[in-house]
Amino acid sequence: MEFLEERKNSITTKGRQKKQLECESESIAGAVSQRACVYCGARVVLNPITDAMHLVHGPIGCASYTWDIRGSLTSGADLFRTSFSTDLKEEDIIFGGESKLIRAIDQLVEKYHPPAIFVYSTCVVGVIGDDLQAVCKKASKKYGIPVLPVESSGFIGSKVVGYRAACDALLQLITHFEGEKIEKNQGINFLGDFNLGGEAWIIKNYLQEIGVQVNAVFTGDSTVEELRKAPSSCLNIVQCAGSMHYLSNKMAELYGIPSISVSFFGSQSIEQSLRKIADFFDDQQMKAKVEILLELEMKRVKPALDYYRQKLQGKKVAIYVGGAFKAISLISQFKELGMEVVMTGTQTGKKEDYAVIHDLLDEGAVIVDDTNPAELEKFMLAQGVELLAGGVKERLLAYKLGIAFLDHNHDRKEALAGFEGAFNFAQEIFTTVCSPVWQHLDRGEDVFNGKSKLQECS
Ligand code: SF4
Repeated sequence: MEFLEERKNSITTKGRQKKQLECESESIAGAVSQRACVYCGARVVLNPITDAMHLVHGPIGCASYTWDIRGSLTSGADLFRTSFSTDLKEEDIIFGGESKLIRAIDQLVEKYHPPAIFVYSTCVVGVIGDDLQAVCKKASKKYGIPVLPVESSGFIGSKVVGYRAACDALLQLITHFEGEKIEKNQGINFLGDFNLGGEAWIIKNYLQEIGVQVNAVFTGDSTVEELRKAPSSCLNIVQCAGSMHYLSNKMAELYGIPSISVSFFGSQSIEQSLRKIADFFDDQQMKAKVEILLELEMKRVKPALDYYRQKLQGKKVAIYVGGAFKAISLISQFKELGMEVVMTGTQTGKKEDYAVIHDLLDEGAVIVDDTNPAELEKFMLAQGVELLAGGVKERLLAYKLGIAFLDHNHDRKEALAGFEGAFNFAQEIFTTVCSPVWQHLDRGEDVFNGKSKLQECS
């Protein structure tokens, strides 16, 4: 198959020989990477803090990246749904945008009285060199609230750099003022869930049922006050490691909070994760409650999952998502449904992530780092893919090729975690893969692995 020579080391096929995939490197110029920018990464992590103000220091275009396309649910405050921007223009870029930023903060504090403000740096701010730190420090002092600079100029790296910038801002937010006491308790923090479709609520309910109190969720449906309680916790459970690994390491170092990895996507992962949490507390009563919960929930969803498994058995899937945690979870979930994952790629996976992905996949599966639409198209057709799981940028490509699509991005509204999420996940795949619409699309012979139509569900 043809692709750019410089991309050759970022693509491999699962075989007996494990090839070290080239990743964590700059995108190749001209390869039309699907990667998002640094600012986008920071926004993903911080935007779900519901009562905080999110102020984008840059041209208005950057501010379009907001709640509408990165939705997450709230149980109360909704300031986070409004995007604020300093709307930098040519004149500000020539003479500097600091005075505009100061005016914006003054006006917004007076009007909205937020408990904290995140000020995001964008490409142009990185170029002109506005001193965000100094402006934010002065504003914090003036208003007595955290005004936190997020060093997220789009061009300084990939989305991963943005995750780190967001975690640095979170660390500043939770740092206690001099003289403030941290009283430790038996509560835990849940890192790496953004409550896109209400997932944090589902998991909090499970934890409550087994007797575990959640002090703070980073950052789904969180508030500034809750997040500031995080250092009191006795454990961090970390789901999306790509975005939260740095924060959990720092919290271990600064507050002595240990962490364990969890995933609440797919029934097997939920079982393992709840048992791991109960093991940490080493509490027999909690362990018994976990088993009761698992039995009840499985009883509720098993008949439906069995039905969907029978319909979807053997269907071929491609995955292309931002982070490795999501890719790894998806492989397990598809396998639980009897589906065959024939291609997997991520925008930001690390070497150790690709080693896990390699081990999970079957022989012949394609593995790609930082791919582009041209490669995706070729691999999907060659592999006879019947469903693509991805984000907003991949959706159109799938539909243009007449391939079913599963949205596993921030735009979705359905919860995909927990047992309820496992049911939603299977139902959504069944609805799209087994839709009669594919039988009305004639794409000509030999387009789709030698077949002109997706195979009907039996
Ligand atoms: S920060 Fe830069 S790359 Fe990101 S949206 Fe703004 S202009 Fe585009």
